[in-house]
Amino acid sequence: MSRRPTVKRIDPHEWRTPTRVGATCAFYRAIQEDVIAWWRRNQRTDLPWRPATGAETSSLSSSKSVAGSSSSVAARTPLYNPYEVWVSEVMSQQTRMETVIPYFNKWMDKFPTIEALAAASEDEVRAVWAGMGYYRRALYLHKGSQYLLEWRRRQPSDKCSRTSAASMPSTQQELLKVPGIGPYTSAAVASLCFGEAVCSVDGNVIRVLSRLRGERGFDPKVPANVKRACGWGQELMGNTPQTASVVCGDPSALNQGLMELGSSVCRPGGAPLCSSCPLRAHCCAYALLQSGEIDAIEGFIPIRAAAAAKRCAKEISVVHEVVEDAAAASEASQRRFVVVRRPPTGLLAGMLEFPTVSAAAEDGGAKAGPALQEHPLCALPLLRSSKEAPLNVKTCGSIRHIFSHIDMDVEVFHVQWPAQINVPELLRAVASVVDERHADSECNPFPAATRIFFMSEAELKAGAPSRLMLKVLHQVSSHEVKRKRSAAPQEASVLFSPSPTTASKKRACR
Ligand code: SF4
Repeated sequence: MSRRPTVKRIDPHEWRTPTRVGATCAFYRAIQEDVIAWWRRNQRTDLPWRPATGAETSSLSSSKSVAGSSSSVAARTPLYNPYEVWVSEVMSQQTRMETVIPYFNKWMDKFPTIEALAAASEDEVRAVWAGMGYYRRALYLHKGSQYLLEWRRRQPSDKCSRTSAASMPSTQQELLKVPGIGPYTSAAVASLCFGEAVCSVDGNVIRVLSRLRGERGFDPKVPANVKRACGWGQELMGNTPQTASVVCGDPSALNQGLMELGSSVCRPGGAPLCSSCPLRAHCCAYALLQSGEIDAIEGFIPIRAAAAAKRCAKEISVVHEVVEDAAAASEASQRRFVVVRRPPTGLLAGMLEFPTVSAAAEDGGAKAGPALQEHPLCALPLLRSSKEAPLNVKTCGSIRHIFSHIDMDVEVFHVQWPAQINVPELLRAVASVVDERHADSECNPFPAATRIFFMSEAELKAGAPSRLMLKVLHQVSSHEVKRKRSAAPQEASVLFSPSPTTASKKRACR
């Protein structure tokens, strides 16, 4: 016999055809109140950008501002620092809060204000962001900060007091003009900080809303569905003509409550914790489950869309190292590498990397073997013709790196050069191979002096290395350590035969 609790059967059509406006508005009001009350009891207190607030955020609620009409908000003290909320929202897209916190603290130490961010160089911005991925977002924050300085100059002097209240526009409409700020972030800043009644609808909120409404067959990956969900959020906020009579009195709390419910209760990657949910009595998905019309909520509402297939890519990355002092070759300060800056657009735009090219079919699939003895990026034909020779060329195996849309397999090589190598010639030779291989696909407009250069290991780590670059360096270093530990008399992985004159130097390097 079923032990399922009996719940009031909810008519799912109530959400879809709000003909009974009075009843529907009361329904929305009940949901607003339940979410806000739950959030006030359960708000996180460990987020540095959202210090815990008191039970009420009524200083913002009294005006009941509606989207696009909050003329007085600029003069009000924001509940949270808008710059901090902006940065945190950008950082937390597709990243867990726990991961974001240390990056956020590091960012605020380095760029505590919009002015400090605007005055930084792109390289400084990349360096602080390094490790988060999605580097374009960091550059948009940088561009946005420069726009905001201009925006402030245009403000009337009475509003431009340099206080946090005047540091950013207070309405979604104005925030949308800032480079890199889209509908979600603008709504989050406008509502959380300035109390504008706009719903910030992200993936978590879409999940909650689609379940509340019992939207069967709803695929959240379809852009038109995301738009629909944004409309549901505005209805719930009271930001539509149909629900204007129940405009939310505390948009900051409602948005934070919806976000928090979506991440911790009506959660991704697991069955929703309906027994702990304040919306259980209003939830169509829960009612459908209880009545047996669906077997489970997770995977059905919203439907679990098939993950988009990732493109497979194969690359060859060659770490060209000049060994200044063979005895201290493993010390970071003594190691110098050839480093290339990627093109300013596309994957890892503007980031540094070891010379890397796509593995073409003629590279024999980039598998270690005789084919790679002559790989141009290892053997550098230009240098070979001028009789320069590396101490050795080694294969270090392959690493796998997953981007959001690419599954990349990188074959790593390590080429060590003697200290007396003609460095400009080496850089020219590497650049010529990289440019030739990229000629058909992408053009790198950075001038040669800032596109290809030498860097010590310490400089490289203090710069803006991508995770992939650090992985490649780690692969080379650990391979080197293993090689040194190995007592094998024959270097099995040496693919390129050094000239007799450099053989003795190679032995000294071990
Ligand atoms: S009752 Fe369950 S499905 Fe409905 S909103 Fe709450 S957690 Fe999500």
